[in-house]
Amino acid sequence: MGFDVDLFVIGGGSGGVRASRMAAAAGAKVALAEDSRMGGTCVIRGCVPKKLMVFASTFRELPTEARAYGWDIADGAFDWPSFRTKLHAELDRLEGIYRRLLDGSGVTIHDQRARLADAHTVELADGTRISAKHILVATGGRPERPDLPNAHLGLVSDDIFLLEKLPKSVLVIGGGFIACEMACILNGLGVKVTQFYRGAQILRGFDDEARGLVAEAMKAQGIDLHLGTNIVEMAEARAVKDHAGEMGADVSASADLLPTSGEKGCPVWVKSTNGHEATFDAVLFATGRAPNSQELGLEALGVKIGRRGEIVVDDYSQTAVPSIYAIGDVTNRVNLTPVAIREGMAFARTVFEGKPTPVDHELIPSAVFTQPELGTVGLTEEEAREREPIEVYCTSFRPMRSAFAGAEARVLMKLIVSQSSRKVLGCHIVAPEAGEMIQMAAIAVKMGATKEDFDRTVAVHPTMAEELVTMRNPVRRA
Ligand code: NDP
Repeated sequence: MGFDVDLFVIGGGSGGVRASRMAAAAGAKVALAEDSRMGGTCVIRGCVPKKLMVFASTFRELPTEARAYGWDIADGAFDWPSFRTKLHAELDRLEGIYRRLLDGSGVTIHDQRARLADAHTVELADGTRISAKHILVATGGRPERPDLPNAHLGLVSDDIFLLEKLPKSVLVIGGGFIACEMACILNGLGVKVTQFYRGAQILRGFDDEARGLVAEAMKAQGIDLHLGTNIVEMAEARAVKDHAGEMGADVSASADLLPTSGEKGCPVWVKSTNGHEATFDAVLFATGRAPNSQELGLEALGVKIGRRGEIVVDDYSQTAVPSIYAIGDVTNRVNLTPVAIREGMAFARTVFEGKPTPVDHELIPSAVFTQPELGTVGLTEEEAREREPIEVYCTSFRPMRSAFAGAEARVLMKLIVSQSSRKVLGCHIVAPEAGEMIQMAAIAVKMGATKEDFDRTVAVHPTMAEELVTMRNPVRRA
């Protein structure tokens, strides 16, 4: 039986777009449906606008540093509306590029929602049915609010990029990538940031020493970080203000800044697990993301969905229904843009180029764009200790640039080395531009470099990263 297309992709994010283009380049007839903006989370409401906001937020410290270096320069004020206009113009430009890339590859774009009618048929929101030999689900994920009365009053990361005005005070809930990055960004832009994390230390899953240093740095910059603390109650601040005497709440937030109609983003009164009460201009939930696997008709077709809502796939991104594949955050494997792109490429190679290609999820580097950044690849010290005898090489110091300006900020370079194979099992960097450094270190770690390979590499002097090749003695063996 002939199909209308060889491949129908649902979702125009990084993974879906790359898979479409590669399949089309291999000669496949491809269609793609996207009901929101082309580019997905990464381009429209994730990595890209986030990184531009990181850049914007780092200028606050520059006048102080510049003055220490002899510049006659005054502090300035940040103009959110002007930045936001430029930010959205840039996102529009990038979305246009994504569209043109798809057009240029011969992929037919449907700007509407799609669901599966059967294992080989996609139904669009307007009722059109398109048959496909293969269907690829690349619908990504979405931020989740905790199950708490009035949680709808809180913002999620998607909302931050759209704010009309910056709030004066924000309570960030969570201690993961998004919570820590957003706390640093907002703090850098001049917002008074309080952060609640329910666990003992932020950035669970990262190396303990690295987490500790990032947390210290965040506090030193003025983020009011509360560990072992969570939100237990929240309500619209105005409603509480009416009973403020009764409830003893601190209702000092600038409640005129944001809508007070009990809508998302209004000033919020909050009670925490330690009984403390306060109000904030806004609450930001950065409490995790959930896969977009619902309302696609998947389960009825026999596609297996996991406990967290993820589509269960094999090493080739194939679901339990042979004609249906899934890649990216909707599969909740490693939720990073470059991984979704890899999964999309491996899928296209497997299905349209006749080269079965499993996705390699080993030794994926990543960076948390806090201030300073945290770059990481491989095992943490805690994970490595559980597996085999290791040596730990670690140094923490005040980097030249900020130390000259009188700042106390410290950076950290850490290598975890196998005692038996001498391989570098993990590398952890806390420093300005750690994301850039870890990309390079990750090549060596992925190649299986030993500590001695690092040592025989000549240092680039004077840099922070030179410490990675000059640490002679382990600080401990474990
Ligand atoms: P994470 O899973 O990293 O963090 C979620 C945080 O919310 C954790 O600290 C978690 O605590 C906490 N949490 C969860 N539920 C609750 C609750 N009910 N009450 C209070 N706290 C809660 O998710 P993110 O949304 O930050 O990021 C999602 C993924 O997106 C990341 O894992 C990453 O893969 C990707 N990402 C990558 C970035 C990058 O590469 N720079 C940037 C942003 C996102 P606990 O630790 O106790 O579970």
